[in-house]
Amino acid sequence: MKVGWIGLGAMGYPMAKNLKAAGHEVLVYNRTQAKAKAHAEAYGTRAVERLEGLAEAEAIFSCLPTSNEVWEVAKALLPHLRTGTLWIDCTSGEPEKSREIAALLAEAGVRFLDAPVSGGTAGAEAGTLAIMVGGDAADFERAKPLFAALGKKIVHLGPVGAGHATKAVNNTLLAAALLAAAEGLLALKKEGVAPEKALEVINQSSGRSFATEVLFPERVLDRSFPLTFKLGLLAKDVRIGNKVTEGAGVPSPLFHLTRELFQAAAKTIGEDADHTEAVKLVEAWGGDEIR
Ligand code: NDP
Repeated sequence: MKVGWIGLGAMGYPMAKNLKAAGHEVLVYNRTQAKAKAHAEAYGTRAVERLEGLAEAEAIFSCLPTSNEVWEVAKALLPHLRTGTLWIDCTSGEPEKSREIAALLAEAGVRFLDAPVSGGTAGAEAGTLAIMVGGDAADFERAKPLFAALGKKIVHLGPVGAGHATKAVNNTLLAAALLAAAEGLLALKKEGVAPEKALEVINQSSGRSFATEVLFPERVLDRSFPLTFKLGLLAKDVRIGNKVTEGAGVPSPLFHLTRELFQAAAKTIGEDADHTEAVKLVEAWGGDEIR
């Protein structure tokens, strides 16, 4: 299939490469053009300098920070798009905004799926992402061969917005688990229990999570905090997670608290720091480091 890709960031860069490796013809566009050129040279994709250059594709992916940027590029491309084109948005976006974008694109006869992903840059690189899809069943069927190049667990969750809602809930759970683990591990350290020893047993016990199994052992305890997923982007996801619970009328004090903490973390530690650096908030309050 001829595929267009918008947004060669930490996730989009390796994802677009995997589509090409699976045999698709891939046109890449990036705001900073040098990245698109480097991608074309490294993987045999075709860099386009202007957004309109993507209009010949049968399917167009977007992988941008928020739904706002997706709206902007969709609006700019709209006059050039052909009826029947499929737009697949891998941004961790907002359900409500996705429905607006789907309606905008429908003016040109363009179909829309929200398809945010989980699995981080490692999953993007390996093509083993989990993909959470919202949209019509027929559009999902059409996109399946493309998803197969990107992920291992691909689930159709409901109409447009269902993918983004599920992703926002998932990431709010990640954010809450990260800070809860930081509080507990810091307290244990002060009680004389080494964090790596505590994790050894917690990770064979019922309190384990992705944070305790992967993030603390591989990024926090060694103080490496590699930048793979910006703190500002996780704070954005938690804000969306709160919109989902509030919109559904579900009392959600834990989601609210997580939103406040991540807003504070993004402000004090920095939006461009890695998300795992949020634990430094707990460390500053507790007066010690988890190592
Ligand atoms: P990055 O910040 O690494 O990349 C963002 C991309 O968007 C870049 O290509 C950037 O272009 C482009 N961009 C930013 N602003 C604009 C704009 N105004 N107009 C056009 N292009 C723009 O983000 P990630 O790749 O990490 O994240 C992308 C999405 O995936 C986010 O929604 C994030 O929440 C989600 N996600 C991220 C994961 C991760 O581990 N990193 C995991 C799962 C989901 P330029 O190169 O010019 O800056």
